[in-house]
Amino acid sequence: MGQIIVIVGSQDSKWNDTGAVKAINAIHSILDRYKLGNVAIASGECPFGGIDKWVQREATWKGFMFMGYPPESKSWGDKWIPYEEFLKNNPFKVTPLRHWKCPICQEKAYLNTTNNKAVKCPKCGMDMYIRARGYKYRNMEMVIHGDEFFSIDPKGVWSGGRWTIKEAKKLGKIVHQIEIEQ
Ligand SMILES: [Zn+2]
Repeated sequence: MGQIIVIVGSQDSKWNDTGAVKAINAIHSILDRYKLGNVAIASGECPFGGIDKWVQREATWKGFMFMGYPPESKSWGDKWIPYEEFLKNNPFKVTPLRHWKCPICQEKAYLNTTNNKAVKCPKCGMDMYIRARGYKYRNMEMVIHGDEFFSIDPKGVWSGGRWTIKEAKKLGKIVHQIEIEQ
């Protein structure tokens, strides 16, 4: 049966050159466990690079199907932002049926946009803000979708990857923490 293998871990700034080489080797040995066509490899497309970027590159290079989970905003929780800013961060994102809020009169709505145009407040006519999903939301998406999880981190360094596999373990998923000495 097809499975989704989630590989996450620490961002670029947490690695020195030695650690980065070891981490990429660790990614290769994980990928070598699986057969092309049986699995999809998933990661978080972290805007600050590191494991997520290396996983995407190596998995794609080896010919695996890749599933990216980029955050819509660089915040842990969800965040109300102008739609213009949202589109700058997520230029190819389709956004049907989303949560909107007026920054002036706080009017809330659950509305469709199909043409990449801002939604106007029905009360005051201002461009409403869209609720952009942060790291937590996308981590939980991976937790729900994934079957087996790996987080690759420098020894003792906390990361969103460690958080993700902790939550996956709570749901009874198979998780592996890989500690890298650097
Ligand atoms: Zn308004």
